[in-house]
Amino acid sequence: MKITVIGAGYVGLVSAACFSDFGYEVTCVDRDPRKLAMLEAGKIPIYEQGLQPIVASNRQAGRLTFTDRLAEAVAGADVVLIAVGTPTREGEDAADLSFVYAAGEEIAKAMNGFTVIVTKSTVPVGTAAKLREIISKARPDGDFEVASNPEFMREGSAVEDFLRPDRVVVGVSSERAERALRQLYRPLSAKNVPLLVTSCEAAEVIKYAANTFLATRIAFVNQLADLCEAVGADIEDVARGMGLDKRIGLQFLSPGPGFGGSCFPKDTRALAHTARQQGNPFTIVENVISANEQRKRELAERIQAAVGGTLAGKKIALLGIAFKAETDDIRDAAALTVIPELQKRGASVAAFDPVAMDNGRQSFEDVQWCADAYSAAIGADAVAILTEWNVFRGLDLKRLARGMRQPVMVDFRNLLSLGDARSSGMVYHSIGRSPIVPADAHKAEIIPFKSGTV
Ligand code: NAD
Repeated sequence: MKITVIGAGYVGLVSAACFSDFGYEVTCVDRDPRKLAMLEAGKIPIYEQGLQPIVASNRQAGRLTFTDRLAEAVAGADVVLIAVGTPTREGEDAADLSFVYAAGEEIAKAMNGFTVIVTKSTVPVGTAAKLREIISKARPDGDFEVASNPEFMREGSAVEDFLRPDRVVVGVSSERAERALRQLYRPLSAKNVPLLVTSCEAAEVIKYAANTFLATRIAFVNQLADLCEAVGADIEDVARGMGLDKRIGLQFLSPGPGFGGSCFPKDTRALAHTARQQGNPFTIVENVISANEQRKRELAERIQAAVGGTLAGKKIALLGIAFKAETDDIRDAAALTVIPELQKRGASVAAFDPVAMDNGRQSFEDVQWCADAYSAAIGADAVAILTEWNVFRGLDLKRLARGMRQPVMVDFRNLLSLGDARSSGMVYHSIGRSPIVPADAHKAEIIPFKSGTV
């Protein structure tokens, strides 16, 4: 089976590499010369565990190639997967489908023989139908099918998720499209991965519904954490007590700085937009979006309260700028809200992230980038943990505190146990748990933070 993947981003590159690992001949197309040059040189443009060896071995075996020549890559392909970006349209909530439709037009001109064109990008309901229209118009003689195959991989464990997914969803509108997609995913079906065949419309809705549901859990647990803070309950106990109920489960019940990344913020907005467009406003989702935006606005306020009520002239050390651990992706990360806000309020910012600092350097000005957490903390009035990197779990807190102007930590990920925080001698603020204030701290400077005030 000859496969072409359009887009060598997080989804396209991982999919292309894994399909070639199944033994298929795969061409991955991207129009970004920087990415292609890196891939040609054997480098991986994104940080994704386990991806490098799969790309290297399949390139060497001649099964995986990279190119910017879409037409050549599409001619003769049995299946063409579109994995280009679908960001939020400028100034709106709707998904910007211009990259998908532009790819569709190019594919239409180049395809020959029976071709199945599959949207792997996250696209709103109705996109497969519209794509079919665009391709038919460009190639009335074309022998093709359009299918929808949403991707559920998580950055940070994308290879593992691709090779061992909970399920594969394929949306089709004909038997021959179904046959082609069943063949494409036969290596996974053989490993008993459930393959759910639906209409294109259902597949498109499933993807948005899954992401929005997970985002809703995060928004829920964050507001629950605020309640816990107010009433003196520990959110970690409460979340565990809830999550051990099998009907609820423990995943996506960790409080934090609000959801970010390249998917949840844009996908919740796009689903809310679709629902509004249909005249059925999805009010739960609208509230999730505004609760999350409020949470992000409050991050700088929490840090300001922890350092005594003003940020002017203070230095804040941020640990982690990626939107979550195990990725270098900073799209819609909490850091994007908090860094400019801290700077606006007069603070200077030092930061360390194990892998996302190259992306950070391109996005932020006037940030002191540091080699590790300890150097970031030197002279700081507070250290704030934004990303749940494992390397921050075992921090030597006494060493960290020694270098600081004020030993204050704001742990937005609840990475530290209260016991460790207590023995560190630091003033320790976390989410949904009472602050730890050592007996000798200047209590007048500890201003309690109250959610909903920003
Ligand atoms: P990305 O921005 O990392 O990659 C997209 C790539 O497509 C870029 O390299 C871009 O240069 C390339 N591209 C755009 N138009 C092109 C064209 N006409 N020809 C060739 N290349 C082209 O995006 P991503 O994070 O991989 O996401 C892609 C899609 O998958 C989005 O719809 C996203 O919502 C969805 N998705 C992402 C994830 C994730 O974890 N990132 C998970 C599931 C689904």
